Amino acid sequence: MPRPLVTAISVVSVDLPLQRPIVSAVGQYAKWPFIITEITLDNGTSGNSYICPYLVHYTKPIEGVILELFKLFENKPLAPNKFYETGIRQLSLLGRSGIAMYALAALDIAFWDASAKDADLPLCEHLGGSIADVKAYNSGGLWLLNPDQLAAEAKELKKEGDFSSLKIRLGRRNLDQDLKAIEAVRNQMSPDDDLLCDFNQVLSFTEALQRLKGLDDQGLYWFEEPIPYYELRNYAELRQNITTPLILGENFHGIDHATLSLELGSGDAIMPDLMRIGGISGWLKTAALAEAYTRPLSSHLYPEVSAHLMRVTPTADYLEWVNWGDPLLKEPYQVRDGYLSIPERPGVGLEFKQDVIDRYRVSPVVP
Ligand SMILES: [Mg+2]
Repeated sequence: MPRPLVTAISVVSVDLPLQRPIVSAVGQYAKWPFIITEITLDNGTSGNSYICPYLVHYTKPIEGVILELFKLFENKPLAPNKFYETGIRQLSLLGRSGIAMYALAALDIAFWDASAKDADLPLCEHLGGSIADVKAYNSGGLWLLNPDQLAAEAKELKKEGDFSSLKIRLGRRNLDQDLKAIEAVRNQMSPDDDLLCDFNQVLSFTEALQRLKGLDDQGLYWFEEPIPYYELRNYAELRQNITTPLILGENFHGIDHATLSLELGSGDAIMPDLMRIGGISGWLKTAALAEAYTRPLSSHLYPEVSAHLMRVTPTADYLEWVNWGDPLLKEPYQVRDGYLSIPERPGVGLEFKQDVIDRYRVSPVVP
């Protein structure tokens, strides 16, 4: 049967206010940028995606790369995996990472979404999996705030979807401050609940050696990114000094970085980011790597698409839940008892609110 042709694309960027501003070691953000891509097939089916490239001033350049890459696929029969291979070959000239990879991911997700919609199946079923709720933790807060603020926020975050698992940000000025922050949150949780933590790369290797030893008896589910993401050998060495599992991966740019990290034994588990790993195609390859190295795989941001992908990831562990995109969505995904529900809709099943896009649209760059 002839495949439908990819005929059109639209791309728009918005800068959306966050319900709870991010106060992290890597920066403070009151808003979060989204690039929304929609591609259309000649049979009228469309597919969409959103990516969040952190820095709003880079949305326009990334839009430009998306539109340029799209020329490779225009008027071609829809074939998401083949398109990814074509795209990544093209990127060899620019580097298989960074904003070029983000642009390929934006297209890849939209192509897969269109492919699943064309098959009239939810994405996870189109990929050969099945629908079920996905274990999640609420990651939408617990930034570098004081203990009273953390206690109040932990209560709110648990209620948002009856979550039992939360993630706190650590890496304050000293160990004692981190311990007080953990205590404030723990007091709002049951003893069996999982508390995860993220250092957002703030510690030096030598600081981490001491700090992680001081936190190793806290029963934290994992230590996430204590040191800069590219210090893969230092991660491997840190692991030898602690018993709490070490996790990294949101900064893997494509399978090259994921492979290197797994080869070096940098973490006990990995957590690819849908955008940086190269979209759905990049994720699927990384899920196979995690299986080969028998490492648990958790997700980073992008809960909707990630939930589908966790259903076809053999070593799937935790889904990171944030609702930062919900104001943009006509029908946001729902959380029940700490599990994210995948809706019975074709594709990923996301539709965007035009009035919200219009209100927060990023203006064109004026030179
Ligand atoms: Mg993180």
